Amino acid sequence: MSHDKGKHKKNKGKHNNHNNPPADITEPEKTVGDGSPDPDYPRYRVDPGQRVRLKDVDPNDTAHFKEKEDSFDDLAKQVERISGLQERLYAENKQSLLIVLQAMDTGGKDGTIRGVFDSVNPEGCQVWSFKAPTPEELAHDFLWRIHEKTPERGMIAIFNRSHYEDVLVVRVHDLVPKEVWKKRYDLINNWEQLLTESNTVIIKFYLHISRDEQKERLEARRDTPDKQWKFHTSDLAERAHWDDYMTAYEDAINKCSTDYAPWYVIPANKKWYRNLVIARTIADTLEAMNPQFPPPEENISDIVIPD
Ligand code: AMP
Ligand code: MG
Repeated sequence: MSHDKGKHKKNKGKHNNHNNPPADITEPEKTVGDGSPDPDYPRYRVDPGQRVRLKDVDPNDTAHFKEKEDSFDDLAKQVERISGLQERLYAENKQSLLIVLQAMDTGGKDGTIRGVFDSVNPEGCQVWSFKAPTPEELAHDFLWRIHEKTPERGMIAIFNRSHYEDVLVVRVHDLVPKEVWKKRYDLINNWEQLLTESNTVIIKFYLHISRDEQKERLEARRDTPDKQWKFHTSDLAERAHWDDYMTAYEDAINKCSTDYAPWYVIPANKKWYRNLVIARTIADTLEAMNPQFPPPEENISDIVIPD
């Protein structure tokens, strides 16, 4: 999905106004490797100006990985990297990372969080799930409740659903007039740029499952006692709008994949491949951010700790 590399670099080096070298988070693979990572996550990134058609993205894609077992060692390695880099990010206390997860029901947002962040120190990582807005939230602008949850310096925040619902479910169900939601793409881009200018790096993942896969997962929820709590008949109503959602997702992704806050469209029918690709993308992005432990106080090795 990423071609025309290097064409959209107008912000390069500008969105990290602290003392570290500027990170190229749009193409982290160039900062932290030779440009050809495995799995090849850059091909799932949507270039600014590109028009992705979700029909053309194979949700079953697992690249050269044949089965789950092929991913174990790699996933463990990436999870370990994330954990170490998160510690540096927290200690450095200068920049933050915002990870947006969006998907259809059963798309695997919760499973991704469990699979990718299970070794991260909970003190440095927050997960926020956005449900239908409360009356108080609805009485404000649509970004009000979201802005409050953005990560402070040193932190990683994961959004399980996000401000994008305001151009997804809201659009599909006409919850506000078209004139209102139409303006939100630019508003979102501007707002994400504001965050970026304040040292928050943003990466966004759309977990791409097929309609058939959703059917199987809903059936599993219906039939498995430990999963039944997750089954809501309202999910069937959303499923009936599948095509409208795909159109809304395409617009959200195409209009809001910027060089400062890229969207990645992740093949997600195979949970293990989804986790592997996302873990690698996050690990490389964190490494490109180049978080550093603050220097110790001077001459601490000479200090005798009193009995
Ligand atoms: P779940 O993530 O399955 O717990 O469901 C949360 C529900 O909240 C989903 O059906 C979302 O579509 C809905 N939701 C989240 N944000 C909004 C929003 N801004 N407006 C309306 N519904 C929303
Ligand atoms: Mg749900």
